[in-house]
Amino acid sequence: MTSHMLADMTQPEAEAALARGTAILVTGSVEQHGSHLPLGTDAIAALTIAHRVAERIEAPVLPLSPVGVAPYHLPWAGSLTLRPETLIALMVDVCGGLAAAGVGRVLVVNWHEGNTPSIRLGADEVQRLYPIRVIIAESHVITNALYPEEMEFTHAGAMETAAVLAHDPDLVHIDRLAGGDPIDRGTAGHALFRRRDVFPVMKDFREVAETGWYGSPASVDEVRAREIIDEAADHIVESMNEVWSRLEDREHDSDEEEMGR
Ligand SMILES: [Zn+2]
Repeated sequence: MTSHMLADMTQPEAEAALARGTAILVTGSVEQHGSHLPLGTDAIAALTIAHRVAERIEAPVLPLSPVGVAPYHLPWAGSLTLRPETLIALMVDVCGGLAAAGVGRVLVVNWHEGNTPSIRLGADEVQRLYPIRVIIAESHVITNALYPEEMEFTHAGAMETAAVLAHDPDLVHIDRLAGGDPIDRGTAGHALFRRRDVFPVMKDFREVAETGWYGSPASVDEVRAREIIDEAADHIVESMNEVWSRLEDREHDSDEEEMGR
């Protein structure tokens, strides 16, 4: 099987792949996900979906870092965080090389809420410095939106279990399930931080779930997990194509306006 990982390619292979103009960056997070899922769940989830996207659009994949911005998980040993400026710098530095190789379109595949503000700031900076447009795919939001009942927007619940199952079922340890806050307590906690008008900024994940997680990790099986993750990749490709063509239309509109002046 041919790999879509940029780092697996030889230089001539990479040069040809990047010259096609699109690259996929993947963001991660290394943070506690209870005693049943790996620390790298969010990194694994984003990469698993990114691989599927890469197969569909024939673009090279580059994980920026397995670690993301997750300071509120630090009370649990093993959780790690980048400073936002580190993630922004990684994105800007890497995009410099991609731009030099002829990439004009970057798709960022993310699965971790804590990364989003930094990715947006990184995208601003990339677009200011290089002839690159950035599109962000929030793969956790997509997975939840496709199957809102089945793929609950929890932490270390069904949706995240599905993503890890689709990658490697040996990394899921349902037999070791321990703790888990009541779903309504976790949901209400998360909802406070997800408000869009007046909202607090998360400091400690125990503000959401005392035990670090909530949800229904045992509710999904391997076969269904792979179907769902495939659907999420399909959705990203469709939406991405639609967004690129809308952006192009708007660029043409403004070109025509300029010419008419
Ligand atoms: Zn997660």
